Amino acid sequence: MIRITDILEKAQEYLPEDDLEMIEKAYIFSASVHQGQIRMSKEPYLIHPLEVAGILVDMKLDAATITTGLLHDTIEDTVARIEEIEEAFGKEIASLVAGLTKISRITLGDLLEHQAENFRKMILAMSADIRIILVRLADRVHNMRTLEYQSPERQRFIARETLEVYAPLANRLGINWIKLELEDHAFKYVYTDEYFELIERVDKKKDERDQYTEKVKNVIQAEMEKYDLKGEVEGRAKHFYSIYKKMKEQGIDFDEVYDLTAFRVILDSNKERECYEVLSIVHALWKPVPGRFKDYIAMPKANNYRSLHTLSLIHI
Ligand code: MN
Repeated sequence: MIRITDILEKAQEYLPEDDLEMIEKAYIFSASVHQGQIRMSKEPYLIHPLEVAGILVDMKLDAATITTGLLHDTIEDTVARIEEIEEAFGKEIASLVAGLTKISRITLGDLLEHQAENFRKMILAMSADIRIILVRLADRVHNMRTLEYQSPERQRFIARETLEVYAPLANRLGINWIKLELEDHAFKYVYTDEYFELIERVDKKKDERDQYTEKVKNVIQAEMEKYDLKGEVEGRAKHFYSIYKKMKEQGIDFDEVYDLTAFRVILDSNKERECYEVLSIVHALWKPVPGRFKDYIAMPKANNYRSLHTLSLIHI
């Protein structure tokens, strides 16, 4: 179970002493107003704002964001008033908490699928300060991690909203791990049968795939050494929801999803030229699939993401 000391310990690695005091004060405030409340999981409610703050400190966000994480449900769910928060923590924190309270009151509701985009836009417009969305995303990550304790009806509702609104928002902000984690959790509740079927099929081939991943990594690494390119090769199975999306979009069966494994090369140097060298190594090893190469170095994504993508059929 997460504790405030864990959060303070991580925060002190990059934040000044004064900031730590504010975070601790927010913890005490949150603990006192949430006192006696329990979550559906039967745990004390305080666990939730602590976990949210824990996610934010792991993302190395500023003290105001972590403080807001600890306070984010106090107005909505307790007797605390925004004036008290302003008095105790100042205008900045009060306006962040007020923003979170406002956002938490709007839900996807019965909106049709094509209206999810409007909902996303509304959230963006309401979050004049980007930190409001970051806390909201951390909030959603923890709620999805603990979704099993909700009623089946709530589960489906929250999971659908997550898939249609919050995962795309995380993607837009370039926070890939949040997008992937939200999608994989939500997948289980929105497309339950498909989820368990896919898990079973992926599990069955796990050993085989692990060996394959290791082999491919070694081949790329060896080739890089030949050309004196220093860096790390990582290989991982694609996330469940990404596999499912691919099967659905392309109308194909599991056995036909050939790019099940993603490899990533991270070079030690920051020379763009070396990125293209590694790409040419991969293309020389395995024929690339036409139309699947993307140069996000020459043309970065809107969120400034820069890298090279390619798809190859690997024979090994
Ligand atoms: Mn919350």
